[in-house]
Amino acid sequence: MSTLTEEIEALAAITEVEPPAVTRVIYSPEDLAGRELVKGLCREAGLTIREDAIGNCYARWEGSEPSLPAVATGSHIDAIPNAGKYDGVVGVLGGLEAIRTLQRRGFQPKRSIELITFTSEEPTRFNIGCLGSRLMSGSLPLEKALALTDNEGRTLDDWLKSSPYAQGDRSAILLKKGHYHAFAELHIEQGPILEREGLDIGAVTHIAAPASYRLEIIGQGGHAGGVLMPDRHDAFCGAAEFALALEKAAWNSGSSDTVATTGMIRVLPGAINSIPNHVEIGIDLRDIRLDTRTAAWDMATKALEEIATRRGLKTTLSTINEDAPATCDPGLVEATVASAERHGYSYQRQISRAYHDSLFMSRIAPTTMIFIPCYKGYSHRPDEYSSPEQIAKGVEVLADVLAQASEQ
Ligand SMILES: [Zn+2]
Repeated sequence: MSTLTEEIEALAAITEVEPPAVTRVIYSPEDLAGRELVKGLCREAGLTIREDAIGNCYARWEGSEPSLPAVATGSHIDAIPNAGKYDGVVGVLGGLEAIRTLQRRGFQPKRSIELITFTSEEPTRFNIGCLGSRLMSGSLPLEKALALTDNEGRTLDDWLKSSPYAQGDRSAILLKKGHYHAFAELHIEQGPILEREGLDIGAVTHIAAPASYRLEIIGQGGHAGGVLMPDRHDAFCGAAEFALALEKAAWNSGSSDTVATTGMIRVLPGAINSIPNHVEIGIDLRDIRLDTRTAAWDMATKALEEIATRRGLKTTLSTINEDAPATCDPGLVEATVASAERHGYSYQRQISRAYHDSLFMSRIAPTTMIFIPCYKGYSHRPDEYSSPEQIAKGVEVLADVLAQASEQ
């Protein structure tokens, strides 16, 4: 029998780069080896494994009433290049530890309890996050997903054909609404608040969701010396004005949780003495409320129209994704709070400003997340760290939440 700490270390040792950095990109030999390790530990705990046709893995502890919708927990084990040991892993191996905790307590579940390892939460290979939970919850049509390409032009369909999941039944990936009675994900906070406030547990009440857009602006190029100001149609100046209009829209959305970022810009032809004739920008807009996020976007696009008309620019706007934010299930949030109080753990209710598989699980099941502190809020880097004590508290609370939901 291994301890949770030993298991986290063993999984971290399966990496495409020099430890302590962890890289496990979906369907790489290391990713597949990591999944084997998790499955082996689940079997040792007496769980039954099912894998779907894109590699989402379900490990089930059968309840006394197996026909009732099960209770589920889980997260991901894929890791972006040069990441750490804890993002996602705490929710998978910690989720397994929560199940073993209940087994040690002699608990007999009424509803079955399942541990899910989601495929490709990170967007590394296919440039889209939460691939597994999107497909599971019907948030992304399978045909569209299969056509997704990696940076070498290889499709998801191609990857699957040479994967262990090639023979899987693709029609069984999608789960119906109501398939699960409840879903709870344990995760490191990936932010500094819990550590700074000296808190043990974050009971997540809302999960913010991003919308992202690509904007192309076409103006008129020309010699930086030859074209006088009244004759200009400078694509970059239009883009700059739009970025400021977007910033203002986020301020004025009616919610202090609206955040807008113009984080990417490409200016062509890109010469110091040439008027920009073509600009591409990438926009990220997030909120915990869909109405205020939409209001901000409406303000920004109205401003864009006005800027384009006044400056004589052509614009093309395309949506990369528009995921709706989620409100966590109040009953599960209160179960988290009640457990923390029972154990004497300090806690707060808080928002998840990053999104996770839980965002998509919330479309098919009452969902919540349990956050634990991590060192300085660091994540997606090799020095990401949560102590065994911090993780153990999260596991205890998760075990309580799963037990309570299983009894309902
Ligand atoms: Zn994660």
